[in-house]
Amino acid sequence: MRIAMISEHASPLAVLGGEDAGGQNTHVAELSAALAAAGHDVRVYTRRHAVDLPVTVRAPDGYDVVHVPAGPAEPVAKDALLPHMKEFGRWLVAQWQTGDWQPEVIHAHFWMSGLAALAAGRRTGVPVVQTYHALGTVKRRHQGVQDTSPRGRVRYERELGRSVDRVIAQCQDEVGELVRMGVPRARMTVVPSGVNLTTFAPLGPAAERDGDRPRILTVGRLVERKGFQDVIRATALVPGAECVVVGGPPAGLLETDPYALRLRSLAESCGVADRVKLIGAVPREEMGRWYRSADVLVAAPWYEPFGLTPLEAMACGVPVIGSAVGGLIDTVVDGRTGDLVPPRDAQALAAAINRLLTDRIRRLAYATAAQQRARRCYSWSTTAERLAEVYGAVAAVRRPVVA
Ligand code: UDP
Repeated sequence: MRIAMISEHASPLAVLGGEDAGGQNTHVAELSAALAAAGHDVRVYTRRHAVDLPVTVRAPDGYDVVHVPAGPAEPVAKDALLPHMKEFGRWLVAQWQTGDWQPEVIHAHFWMSGLAALAAGRRTGVPVVQTYHALGTVKRRHQGVQDTSPRGRVRYERELGRSVDRVIAQCQDEVGELVRMGVPRARMTVVPSGVNLTTFAPLGPAAERDGDRPRILTVGRLVERKGFQDVIRATALVPGAECVVVGGPPAGLLETDPYALRLRSLAESCGVADRVKLIGAVPREEMGRWYRSADVLVAAPWYEPFGLTPLEAMACGVPVIGSAVGGLIDTVVDGRTGDLVPPRDAQALAAAINRLLTDRIRRLAYATAAQQRARRCYSWSTTAERLAEVYGAVAAVRRPVVA
């Protein structure tokens, strides 16, 4: 099939770890690669965020990335992109009406992409599938006044859910949120993200360790809701262990990153400055080295729409201790592949980490079960296959073209 992925802010070609570059970029890149490998013709449309970007770039994994001129050709924060979505949609319509390539299905990632996709889909008669990746209701609940989302986000998300041809939920928790928002259950299909089982595997090089210290690894964009503070507080309650934080700006810029500075001063005030290491952004192809070097991955988000990092660790045969939120409730099987604890609870995290680090048999059992679960249930080829079925089903329905 000819598939158009719309990912306004998250380019599959981006360097990850920065504030707006994380799971969605990985998801779009891996999904597009898996669909291309299955013989589909995939084009990813993302916003042109620099003047020197060619219109189309062929990704090494066999799909095209098209840079859409919408808004200034410079980086713009995700939450400031809404005013440019009309232009984004109009550009797609012009391309598909006049060019030699028309999609059979459009898959939008994040709500703003959904708005552009829906407008373009209606004008060209192409069905739209929507993955939210994150929901405004959840963000507002947890971030309150600090939520910088554009006004009206929740309303737009509800309307999208009621208007697109199919909504893809990534986990059961998201299904519940969407239903409470007013999106009918019948419009949804649950298809979780996958994990790259070649990049993330137990065998392979591992990052160097600091002597015999047990290693707690935690990974993600350096934003507050990822709960790195709780992991640092927990480390203070785990004698002798080191805590390695991967993500954020590149290592050279960590010294000036306000959140990294806060984490450093927290580590000092907890008396663990010598046991907490901030690594900064790591290229995607090197992530496996870090997971393989760890005894445990701790993922302590306040909320998490899906959460790729626990799955990546599991695929490397690393047990996960995580907050019982969002996608982690589905991916981490409590007491089998890891432990789930309440969010924002450093004491509970520390108790689970101590129990695991002092019980080698449990660690081995979790590691084996984690790796098997990732392999059996979360390959990208399975995700791509299930989504291709959804694409086929929505494309089989004829729809009018709205002028
Ligand atoms: N990641 C990376 N380098 C980093 C930090 C993160 O490649 O320095 C990747 C990580 O491997 C994962 C993604 O970014 O694939 C983060 O996804 P997740 O779903 O955990 O979080 P999100 O960014 O969506 O909140």
